[in-house]
Amino acid sequence: MQKIRSGTFAALLLGSIAFPLPLAAAPVDTSPIREAALQDNIAWDFTEGLTTEVGPRPAGTPQEARAREWAVAKLKALGFSNVRSEPYKMPVWVRGHDEARILSPFPQNLALAALGNSASTSANGIEGEVLYFPTLSDLLAAPDGSLKGKIAFVSHVMAATQDGSSYSHFGATRRQGPSIASKKGAAAILIRSIGTDNHRLPHSGVQMWADGVKPIPAAALSTVDADQLTRILARGQSVRLRLTLTSKMLKDQPSGNVIAELPGTDPTAGIILAACHIDSWDQGTGAIDDASGCGIITAAALHAAKAGPLRRTIRILMAGAEEVGGDGGRAYFAAHDGERHAVAMESDFGADRVWRVDFKLPAGHEALSDRIASALSPLGIAPSRLAAGGGSDIEPLVKAGVPVIDLQQDGTHYFDIHHTADDTLDKVNRAQLQQNVSAWAVTLFAIADAAESLAVK
Ligand code: ZN
Ligand code: ZN
Repeated sequence: MQKIRSGTFAALLLGSIAFPLPLAAAPVDTSPIREAALQDNIAWDFTEGLTTEVGPRPAGTPQEARAREWAVAKLKALGFSNVRSEPYKMPVWVRGHDEARILSPFPQNLALAALGNSASTSANGIEGEVLYFPTLSDLLAAPDGSLKGKIAFVSHVMAATQDGSSYSHFGATRRQGPSIASKKGAAAILIRSIGTDNHRLPHSGVQMWADGVKPIPAAALSTVDADQLTRILARGQSVRLRLTLTSKMLKDQPSGNVIAELPGTDPTAGIILAACHIDSWDQGTGAIDDASGCGIITAAALHAAKAGPLRRTIRILMAGAEEVGGDGGRAYFAAHDGERHAVAMESDFGADRVWRVDFKLPAGHEALSDRIASALSPLGIAPSRLAAGGGSDIEPLVKAGVPVIDLQQDGTHYFDIHHTADDTLDKVNRAQLQQNVSAWAVTLFAIADAAESLAVK
């Protein structure tokens, strides 16, 4: 090993203080909040309770309504103020029976799940020849009309990344593939699940039909069933498949957001919005997506407020209908856009540990981001130079210019489970959940306590 010279050592030290504490106004020591939150049980109790007592909570269904009632009662019992549901109505797609059977050359069933807003087949299903496209680009390149009467199959492999960034690229197969296939005349489309596991559990998810496009049956095969179909197609014979996806669309169903507050002492200082979503996909119990996120922000707000009266109000938003297009986030914005939001944050990327913090604060608030980075550092969380972007529950606020902070969770294993029947409580690790609560608690405290204006202009 090379001997470290003193100059190198000094450089290492300098590197470690890239985010120094501000020299003005000594910050409050956040270590008691951080340490207490590392022993938290509230987030686990919330996640365990919601997934056990309510279970799956598809948007706009009676299960989602029960989740709202459950959350309102829980937040009141935990001591939050102004706890209420804010209702709205929305169209709802309801899954029926999902089945795929290869008729020839090698008869067998394939594991799949209809995608949100899929058209329904009849109870007897439809039959067609499978046309294989290795990637979404290959589907896009197919001549118009060339898919007439066929079942398009796009098998686009997604690899895991720590920041989950591959989801945005490969997720296009789910989001846009069905509309592209329909435009080219396909009778139906199958995609490889947007997931990173090797299990027979398909990954569901929403897709929206482009304007003027005729809805067709659309489903995701499990990753290993997509591999199976690819191998069968590679034999070179025509593959015929029967697809049965029954579903229905309901108009004007009740959905809603759940709101709760820990009031601050200075109503003019702006609200800190901490968001998650209360709905889930139907196959699992939505433990990592997003019961854990709701547990994390609930627990963290309480730990932050234990430190004493806070200047800013912390408002919890448990949004409805995130999974099917963000109806709850839009309803929140429509109802509360007129109020002053100091900062918006969202927890909706599972229950794994936070590893990075991104900021998008108004210019001149570097001392605040430095204080937050310092408070997060003992948790193994490093600041990035990337701008925070938030998630879909706070997207309308972020677009309107509200400052945002992202506590980025490790997403390496998130897409192994995401939107599958395997999204269940046993996938949540208590210690990682506590690390999230701790990171959120010190961050919420630092913003709530900050003397800075956080005014956008
Ligand atoms: Zn989610
Ligand atoms: Zn989701």
